[in-house]
Amino acid sequence: MEDGNTRGSKFKRVCVFCGSNFGNRQVFSDAAIELGDELVKRKIDLVYGGGSVGLMGLISQKVHEGGCHVLGVIPKALMPLEISGQTVGEVRTVVDMHERKAAMAKESDAFIALPGGYGTMEELLEMITWSQLGIHKKPVGLLNVDGYYNCLLALFDNGVEQGFIKPGARDIVVSAPSAKELVEKMEQYTPSHKQVAPHESWNTEQLGDYPKQQNAQ
Ligand code: AMP
Repeated sequence: MEDGNTRGSKFKRVCVFCGSNFGNRQVFSDAAIELGDELVKRKIDLVYGGGSVGLMGLISQKVHEGGCHVLGVIPKALMPLEISGQTVGEVRTVVDMHERKAAMAKESDAFIALPGGYGTMEELLEMITWSQLGIHKKPVGLLNVDGYYNCLLALFDNGVEQGFIKPGARDIVVSAPSAKELVEKMEQYTPSHKQVAPHESWNTEQLGDYPKQQNAQ
């Protein structure tokens, strides 16, 4: 049921990738808080990289304060307080970045990237690639705050134009300028691209399934 403060969602848990820095403009912090609010409104739990640095800290605190569950998945090497700060909610320690990404992917029904640097872009690109390959069927969203990702989106378009990205695969990336719009678009997402390998041929036990009905066929 929807009221002014609660929207509800088909997603139970969303994984958010974001910068370990704040970025140079207030608009990025505002967007992290806005996305945190949107998740809380829809009663969506958060999965993220652990730690309280940069935008990661802002969104995790917002979702935690809003009463939704926060799962931080953090490699041992990033655990020291002086590196990642104080993590809120549940913390899962993993051996390395590979295990972290697999755990984050398995625990989530969808992925969203806020503005960030290499780490965020790498995580985003990997989830896009896993979708293209057929490893998962979960929506991948890009919160394009104030056009931060315009160049990356243009690069994807160029990849299509130059014959390196199939037009259908371009639709894997759902983007929007605001959190509300993005989550709404992601709720409508159904995979339409041709997977490189059948979803069933991957070890989905490691990664979880979405949408469950389609995978059950
Ligand atoms: P970046 O976008 O380069 O700032 O990297 C952000 C991503 O890298 C996060 O989602 C984390 O997975 C990881 N990361 C980078 N620095 C840290 C840190 N100090 N503590 C925890 N995770 C970090």
